[in-house]
Order: sequence, then structure tokens, then C-alpha cells
Amino acid sequence: MKLDYDYIIAGSGLAGLSLLHRLLLDKDLQSKRVLVIDKVEKMDNDRTWCFWEKGAGIFEPIVHHHWETLQFFPQTYQKHLNSKSTNIK
Ligand SMILES: Cc1cc2nc3c(=O)[nH]c(=O)nc-3n(C[C@H](O)[C@H](O)[C@H](O)COP(=O)(O)OP(=O)(O)OC[C@H]3O[C@@H](n4cnc5c(N)ncnc54)[C@H](O)[C@@H]3O)c2cc1C
Repeated sequence: MKLDYDYIIAGSGLAGLSLLHRLLLDKDLQSKRVLVIDKVEKMDNDRTWCFWEKGAGIFEPIVHHHWETLQFFPQTYQKHLNSKSTNIK
């Protein structure tokens, strides 16, 4: 049997699955044949990601929690920020 793919994604971690998600969202690429391979069969949720972004991103449907404020407490500095303020880049 001959296996033919347009794209082969090695690793179904953050980078691989983000790429796959973007391929599937692009209507010109949805018809492509994609193979995703990983060295382990992942059946558990071993990581939870936190990130910040401006506005709604592509992962909005799976966002589990939002924080409205950020606090930094290194030894010589203290900062409390509203995560919706425009001074966070
Ligand atoms: C507990 C934890 C919490 C984290 N929290 C955050 C966070 O809150 N925010 C954040 O931004 N980052 C976080 N990180 C960092 C984030 O997980 C990494 O930056 C990100 O996963 C890197 O993406 P990646 O696709 O390069 O690697 P990974 O997500 O590790 O994916 C690599 C994949 O490749 C597979 N693989 C490896 N070798 C092979 C091979 N030879 N053949 C086939 N497949 C292979 C692995 O099994 C794995 O599935 C966290 C990391 C950990 C461990």
C-alpha cells in the first residue's frame, strides 16, 4: 500500500497541533492529506497552558479560565496590572 501525504507533522505537541489546527482552518489547505506522528500514544492531559493575547484568539473555544489581573513580585519590584490595560504588550 502506498501512503501519500501533502504534509507530515512530526510530534503532536504544542507546535505540531497548532500547525495542524491552522491547516484545518485554512480553506485552501483543508483538502490536504496530513499525517501526524508522535512517539508516544497520548491519552492523558499532561499540560495546561497559560498565555496572554490581545482580543479573542483561535483557541478561544477551549479557553478554560481568564485572569483579569497580573501580579509580579520579584525581590526588588512589585507590579500589579490589569490584563486588559493597553500597556501590556
Ligand atoms: C508542565 C508544563 C507546563 C507548561 N506550561 C506552559 C504555559 O503555561 N505556557 C507556555 O507558554 N508554555 C508552557 N510550557 C512550555 C510548553 O509546554 C512548551 O514550550 C511547548 O510544549 C513546546 O512545544 P513543542 O511542540 O516544541 O514541544 P512539545 O509540546 O513537547 O511536543 C513535542 C512532541 O513531539 C513528540 N516527539 C518527540 N520526539 C519525537 C520523535 N522522535 N518522533 C515523533 N514524535 C516525537 C513528543 O512526544 C511530543 O508530543 C509548559 C511545559 C510544561 C512541561
